[in-house]
Amino acid sequence: MGLNWLLIDQETWEEVDPDELSYEELLALGEVVGIESRGLSADIIASLPSINYKAGSSQNGSNDSCVICRLDYEDGETLTLLSCKHSYHSECINNWLKINKVCPVCSTEVSTAAHS
Ligand SMILES: [Zn+2]
Ligand SMILES: [Zn+2]
Repeated sequence: MGLNWLLIDQETWEEVDPDELSYEELLALGEVVGIESRGLSADIIASLPSINYKAGSSQNGSNDSCVICRLDYEDGETLTLLSCKHSYHSECINNWLKINKVCPVCSTEVSTAAHS
């Protein structure tokens, strides 16, 4: 589908009214122009496991403060646990993963449980 956009000649192009383009056509145009995101989709971010932080219980491999906002976790706060076992405030890591799909600490690419 994207190829068609590359092949249209100038004459055809001038007849294209952007207001008449469908959503899919606009998306295809965006792909040609090169708009892309290196982050994760909201669906994938939402599917990451979350845990409740408990002060004092040393969870295996997890840190006890959030490197993104540099605050210590409070008892009962909701954290998102990445596949590399690093954890962050859900709100902090959600915003991070929209831009960059790697763990801020160890740079492991965040994988989902889709392929086990
Ligand atoms: Zn945080
Ligand atoms: Zn990590």
